[in-house]
Amino acid sequence: MEPAEILAAAGKISQIYAVTDGSGFDLRKCNPAEKDGFANIKKADAPEHLEDGVGVLADLQEKLYAQDHWSILLIFQAMDAAGKDGVIKHVMSGINPQGCAVHSFKAPSAEELDHDFMWRTTRQLPARGMIGIFNRSYYEEVLVVRVHPEILAAQKIPKDLLGKDLFETRYEDIRRFESYLSHNGTVVRKFFLNVSKDEQRRRFLERIDTPEKHWKFAARDVAERQHWDGYMDAYQAMIRNTASKSAPWYVIPADNKWYTRIAVAGVIIDTLASLGLHYPKVAGKRLAELQSARASLLAEKA
Ligand code: ATP
Ligand code: MG
Repeated sequence: MEPAEILAAAGKISQIYAVTDGSGFDLRKCNPAEKDGFANIKKADAPEHLEDGVGVLADLQEKLYAQDHWSILLIFQAMDAAGKDGVIKHVMSGINPQGCAVHSFKAPSAEELDHDFMWRTTRQLPARGMIGIFNRSYYEEVLVVRVHPEILAAQKIPKDLLGKDLFETRYEDIRRFESYLSHNGTVVRKFFLNVSKDEQRRRFLERIDTPEKHWKFAARDVAERQHWDGYMDAYQAMIRNTASKSAPWYVIPADNKWYTRIAVAGVIIDTLASLGLHYPKVAGKRLAELQSARASLLAEKA
């Protein structure tokens, strides 16, 4: 695909899956197996298109880094085996590693629990010019913590603050925090990889039946399936309460890995393309310096 075609497809895919206003968002209407966003892309051709897309992404990222004004924060949330790791690996594969940092957030450590819930992620926010990727994030605080009240009970929040509006307050804090980030040049894009319960089952069985995938399997993940409906309610409430124009959620169908990957790549390409990035222009004194450096290099004996 030519870069212009890729940019057009990326713009379209971004529009299809973006939730910029969460009121009325209904997760049940989002089909995890859907793959219609790129009408003419077939599974067999997907790797080639992804490679072309990653090339466009790498060019945009070079400009982002050179310009050093914007930061990009990409947040990935999903049920286990939805493909977060694979998406991050494939979509970011062609990018200059110096301009990109991935952080995974697991159950918090004792030190992390001694701080407010956004402390650990705030420390890892991307600097200007950088793409920061959060594999899980502060959103776990309104997901797993909501599904498992015992986790909240173990957090050291003063009792007086543990009212029934705690999660409403967290949504509000997150909205304000993301709005603050956007006012400061951090572009926040959030991905929910929407896998179905059936497809998760199939992937767990594949992990169990393939020795090379055994390391990915955790018995705990199967137990967690019992809370599937609770998680879906928590995801829906999260998206309803925290989707905004400046920090949209993208609900990406995740039952077909090839499709998930090109769709996420499309959203990231569209995000960077919308910033009007360009290499810094050198003029005046700096240009004169370049010319004089050139003259002295040419004057050196070969
Ligand atoms: P993989 O795809 O390899 O399984 P993962 O992201 O699921 O990667 P795990 O080692 O399984 O990594 O651990 C992540 C676990 O940590 C998840 O169950 C997640 O819900 C939990 N977790 C993350 N943040 C928090 C938090 N703030 N409080 C409690 N649990 C959390
Ligand atoms: Mg896991």
